[in-house]
Amino acid sequence: MMKRPTTVGNRLLAPLPPADLGLLAPYLQQISLKQDAVLVRSGDRNEQVYFPHSGTISFMLDMPNGQTVATSVIGHEGAVGMLSVLGPSRSPTTAVIRVSGIASQISASRFHAAFAQSNAIKHAVQTHTRAVLMQLQHVASCNALHAVEARMARWLLHIHDRIDGNFIPLTQEALSELLGVRRTTVTLVGRKLRASGAVRSARRGLVEIARPRLEEAACEGYEVMPENAKTAPAQPLLKALEPIRVYRSISNVETTRTLDR
Ligand SMILES: [Zn+2]
Repeated sequence: MMKRPTTVGNRLLAPLPPADLGLLAPYLQQISLKQDAVLVRSGDRNEQVYFPHSGTISFMLDMPNGQTVATSVIGHEGAVGMLSVLGPSRSPTTAVIRVSGIASQISASRFHAAFAQSNAIKHAVQTHTRAVLMQLQHVASCNALHAVEARMARWLLHIHDRIDGNFIPLTQEALSELLGVRRTTVTLVGRKLRASGAVRSARRGLVEIARPRLEEAACEGYEVMPENAKTAPAQPLLKALEPIRVYRSISNVETTRTLDR
């Protein structure tokens, strides 16, 4: 059995002063994030902003030929759709839930209204923007310079940073989407990582990792990440959110299977 995360709280929301959080709290809905579901599709407007408390979401570029590749991942340290405050635009990427979890959801228009009134929320947006830009730069250089084996190790570490336990729920198909390579390549690279001891097993959509070995296999792109999810300060979700806790599944959201062409 996988352990549930012990720390609850999105790290952009948790540090907000009560008055600023109060601008959002009445409109925040708590939802469950289901593995493989799509939060926003490339080309769609960001109608909602999501603040994960647990779980992992990857942002995927969809190429016209059907290929996909991950540009970044976020967990409880980030948000989905937050940068819509920069102006009306369509999402350049598809946000796919890779690891199930819990998130707070608010409509983009409510979030924009709170953003306009709160310096603390503006600061949270700046923090998130900076983290996203840093990650995009590292991923861009990594994709150009580093071998698939090191890149796979890096994605596994990024996701491991955002979950508890050493079992990462990723299928070969999900890994091939993240890396933008064929599944046969994933199989070959997976064998190499198992031979080196970085991956202990990969069965039934669960990749069991050995963290120290995986860090050795990953490229320096992982090490130079200035603020990875593990180093952000953990804070509990503020009490202000308790009264509006509404659990709702988004299992009706299309899954990535529909991306197959
Ligand atoms: Zn790299």
